[in-house]
Amino acid sequence: MAGAAKPFNEDQRLAALHRYQVLDTAAEQAYDDVTTLASAVCKTPIALVSLVDEDRQWFKSRVGLGVSETPRELAFCAHAILQPDEVFEVRDAQLDPRFAGSPLVTGEPGIRFYAGAPLVTADGLPIGTVCVIDREPRALAAPERKALQSLARQVVAQLELRQAMAGLELESMTDPLTSLWNRRSLDRRLHAAWNLHVHEAAPLSLLMIDLDHFKRINDAHGHPTGDRVLVQAAAIIRDQIGHDGLAARFGGEEFCVVLPGMDAGTAQQRAEQLRRALEDASWPDVKVTASVGVATAAADEDGSPNVMLTRADRALYVAKRDGRNRVRHFEGWF
Ligand code: GH3
Ligand code: MG
Ligand code: MG
Repeated sequence: MAGAAKPFNEDQRLAALHRYQVLDTAAEQAYDDVTTLASAVCKTPIALVSLVDEDRQWFKSRVGLGVSETPRELAFCAHAILQPDEVFEVRDAQLDPRFAGSPLVTGEPGIRFYAGAPLVTADGLPIGTVCVIDREPRALAAPERKALQSLARQVVAQLELRQAMAGLELESMTDPLTSLWNRRSLDRRLHAAWNLHVHEAAPLSLLMIDLDHFKRINDAHGHPTGDRVLVQAAAIIRDQIGHDGLAARFGGEEFCVVLPGMDAGTAQQRAEQLRRALEDASWPDVKVTASVGVATAAADEDGSPNVMLTRADRALYVAKRDGRNRVRHFEGWF
């Protein structure tokens, strides 16, 4: 038995499917409601929300079937997505040369009847189906066919909602100007890093970075230039830190970097590299430098995330006091 042809817009179709980030996620009530309804309305023992991936179909929800995916070349749904505006119906698979030899027909689950309504995205891309399956040959009545299409639209609406919510969550966590994490997500991530420090008895370092005399840049060159400097500084900080930590915009022209597992000496070296990278970068008509305060909680050290922030801030104050464009590690309050 040959598999279905690939849709003409297969690449876009797969990109759309993967953007939903739904493959291999846990079962959810909203999708289980759809398969429950589909099987009740169409009076079939099996109903599925099937997503047609590159080499497989994966079931976001299933009623009456034990497996969570099958190879794409066996998938009835791979045929269904070739005609996105219609319900694809196979009244008796044993009589259909495309399916009669399929192991899904000759063996488990013994498919005779299949009807699938394509899941079509707003861009017209068919990413899967809501389908019903029976072990007896039969046909759908017109109202059943319409109901299956309604359920397919519900699934797409649900997927769109999930994508919009993920986008909103990310938006609420990032700084719109620099795309770094914002203050709110810094707090969360610093607390998570602190918990790791406590439970794994690993060191934790924190850098507080403040651009020097930034107000003068705004005053001399205007706010838009100031904004461009902030964006470039953020990019340099992100590049310098890479995967070793997490960079956030603390506010205004201040940035904060959390460095899980990093001891004081290494953190001070990295801070110095970062300071130099900012000083050596080529900026639009301005000279930019930064002062950096470093605080470290040694592996066995008590404290709290807030105390770390205060210590890094104190070290930053000392760096400013000592002349700016330098790194200082927290050495005590006096
Ligand atoms: P210091 O070396 O002591 O840090 O001096 P400073 O001028 O950098 O510090 P100050 O706190 O006096 O000024 C910070 C300036 O940053 C003032 C504020 O207008 C500017 N600023 C804060 N947020 C933004 C922003 O989003 N865009 C721009 N262009 N400027 C900002
Ligand atoms: Mg400041
Ligand atoms: Mg400043």
